Amino acid sequence: MKLFTVGPVACYPEVLEAMAGQMYSHRSEEYLELHFDTVERLKAFIGTGDPIFLFSSTGTGFMEAAARNCVREKLLVCVNGSFGRRFADVAEANGKGVVVLEPPLGEPISEEALDGALDDDPAIEAVAITHNETSAGLINPLEALAEVVKEHGSMLFVDAVSSMGGTEIRVDDWGIDICFSSSQKCFGVPPGLGIGSVSERALEASAGAVDKGWYFDLKLWERYHSQGRGTPMTSAMPQVAGLNAALKMIDGHGGRGWYFDAFRRRNERIRGGVEDLGLSIFPKKGYESPTVSCINAPEAGGPAVYGAMRGEGFELAQGYGALKERTFRIGNMGYIEDDDIDLMLEALGRVLGKF
Ligand SMILES: *Cc1c(COP(=O)(O)O)cnc(C)c1O
Repeated sequence: MKLFTVGPVACYPEVLEAMAGQMYSHRSEEYLELHFDTVERLKAFIGTGDPIFLFSSTGTGFMEAAARNCVREKLLVCVNGSFGRRFADVAEANGKGVVVLEPPLGEPISEEALDGALDDDPAIEAVAITHNETSAGLINPLEALAEVVKEHGSMLFVDAVSSMGGTEIRVDDWGIDICFSSSQKCFGVPPGLGIGSVSERALEASAGAVDKGWYFDLKLWERYHSQGRGTPMTSAMPQVAGLNAALKMIDGHGGRGWYFDAFRRRNERIRGGVEDLGLSIFPKKGYESPTVSCINAPEAGGPAVYGAMRGEGFELAQGYGALKERTFRIGNMGYIEDDDIDLMLEALGRVLGKF
């Protein structure tokens, strides 16, 4: 099966090879070297001097960490689909007050709406934004939205799970307090790792937080990090080795610009091919995700296209949440070769011809 999934995605051969090694102590000098080399490469990749923690959870662990460590009473969550909704659910489940800003499905968060929502409620301490809403195949104008958050003095949490690695993010320039991702998306590594940068301000909030729990206590993570001891609990060592191999591969090709170009090229090829087959893209023009195309399904429905494509040897992704029937998705994250895109599009043409 050729994968055009949205996570887990196909992994690079270099990554799988790096993960196949025998285990050893996560307190050893060898592991700490691997750990901090990975952290330094990530810091350069997303433009930050903040510490980056590697949770042995998925990216969602950072939603819980952000809510519990950095919000006393209330935050604003921007919702463009299922993952923004999840952030709101996580914050609520942890006893926080949640104000939701939710444009119609397929539309981005606008600067005006965000500005208005923050003006309306001065008690909002933080804003959560999904950079790339995977369920709708939509990317938000994060840099401009971050500017609005900064003007209001709130903290900013960014779910960059399906954008980190695939498109530009500049954590320090844009003023992001917590920016997190997962191993199994743009970096093309198996699942099991949450990757997140945490600002000084977020750490200060954590220092004063009550009832923040233990496992995701950011001050605890920071203590181990700053003392050069890696992680408080056992690291997901194979995933860290895999991520390190992916970052080395990217750096070996001259860095993130090369990687972003690969995403752009694959994404354009897929979107152009799909439009040539007479289908349209779901989100509003100009806000199409660079890592996943969410496509309006023909009358037969999204699940039928997905099922028929499996029969052709291609694993795409079904529509998600409210869009399950109306859409299907084609991811371009991870290990995908350009020739396979053409084969996949040919198969899609055959499948559409049968409906
Ligand atoms: C996949 C995804 C998540 C969930 O990630 P986990 O690794 O399963 O925690 C959250 N947000 C977005 C935007 C995603 O694409």
